[in-house]
Amino acid sequence: MDLRFFNTLERRQMNFEALTAGCAKMYTCGPTVYNFAHIGNFRAYVFEDILRRTLEYFGFAVTQVMNLTDVDDKTIRDSRKEELPLREFTAKYKKAFFEDIKTLRIEPAEVYPAATDHIPEMINLIQTLMDKGFAYQAQDKCIYFSIDKCKDYGKLARIDRENQRDGVRISTDEYAKDAVGDFALWKAWDEADGDVYWESPWGKGRPGWHIECSAMSMKYLGESFDIHTGGVDNMFPHHEDEIAQSESATGKKWVNYWLHCEHLMVDGTKMSKSLGNFYTLRDLQNKGFSGREIRWVLVGAHYRKKLNFTMDALNQARETLGKFDDLFDRLRTIAADGDGTEVRELIDSTKNAFATAMADDLNIAPALAAAFELMRGANRLADEQKLTKAGAQAVMAAFRDFDRVIACFDVDAVRESVAIPAEVTALAEARAEARKAKNFAESDRLRDELTKLGYAIKDIPGGAWELKKL
Ligand code: AMP
Ligand code: ZN
Repeated sequence: MDLRFFNTLERRQMNFEALTAGCAKMYTCGPTVYNFAHIGNFRAYVFEDILRRTLEYFGFAVTQVMNLTDVDDKTIRDSRKEELPLREFTAKYKKAFFEDIKTLRIEPAEVYPAATDHIPEMINLIQTLMDKGFAYQAQDKCIYFSIDKCKDYGKLARIDRENQRDGVRISTDEYAKDAVGDFALWKAWDEADGDVYWESPWGKGRPGWHIECSAMSMKYLGESFDIHTGGVDNMFPHHEDEIAQSESATGKKWVNYWLHCEHLMVDGTKMSKSLGNFYTLRDLQNKGFSGREIRWVLVGAHYRKKLNFTMDALNQARETLGKFDDLFDRLRTIAADGDGTEVRELIDSTKNAFATAMADDLNIAPALAAAFELMRGANRLADEQKLTKAGAQAVMAAFRDFDRVIACFDVDAVRESVAIPAEVTALAEARAEARKAKNFAESDRLRDELTKLGYAIKDIPGGAWELKKL
């Protein structure tokens, strides 16, 4: 089956043809480690994980590189605020990032290069651009890339250079979407950088953000590779500038397929740190949601569509995954003899639908619909006592197969018994009565009793309550 992706560079779906048959080399822009990543960032990383897992599902050996931006304006600013050396400050957030991706069941990349470990590679690349006449040192001592020297600058974002450019020079990494100008490859040291600088042929300073991705991707993946990904906000200027630097330096096409995921939204606006409308993964875990529930929400929408985040979606994820868990519990108990032919057709058709959907630009909705169809069919056969042990095992194997991509189906996780002892329920009922009678001293006493027995009680509007094991 051919894999097809929407290639942003060409604005159309294309069959995926790897440079080396059977091997997919991909680069994904990683986190800036100055804070905990928010779940908007994780939407991008989960999309990249689905892409990676789909490539593997179709037999590709994947080499993925994800950078860690551990030096930039924000990391320097905040490390100075906390009076910590840059390395110590970023180490905390690097560690948190790796914990978070594990929680979200994101398969690790093969290499996580940190920018500060690759300064010589960046200096070499800048030197090549200087030697070839694509870069120059300005009066402010910074080295800039001259976009006039790069004839196809703007080809990814399709920006109109003629109408926008006016001798602009931009030394910060992040600039307004419509500002097209020469961008910094090397930033000369200034006071705000404190003790963060490296020596270079152009004086002390530090690399710009864009050059980091060009230098590190080419170090680990070669001068040309298959796939580059990121969120749509990375397309311009970041990815545009990466292309300009890389292709000007090597004279070769750098990346064949560009995939960009849409934003995670909150109330119609992009979730972002600067707007303050974000949840970190930890915020949601503290509300009692698991990594797999959060992953299910992030996985559930097509990567090129905006996804509106709500708490309700998380509650629904819990309910849905609970139904799959119930099915797996049920399948494990089925013991009837037989060769499993009763489900073979259903399994073949749903597996085929799943693969066809994922091969079609990661079309997640029909892929998940196939999983739901298999669940419904298996439950129906079990209701009718037509499912045999061999059939049940074949269904579980099919879900394990889907899970190579989805990574939310806990086919083999035997759940702890959730039965609550009668004395605990009785205490909870007595507490509800006490509350109703406004006898709060008694209701508090009963809550403490419950805590001692290892249960938390949560009141639900309308007088109902819910017990949870602590
Ligand atoms: P940053 O740390 O801002 O460079 O972002 C890291 C990654 O997260 C990039 O690929 C961004 O495009 C992506 N990203 C940031 N905010 C969102 C969002 N609200 N939805 C989806 N992706 C995002
Ligand atoms: Zn990048």
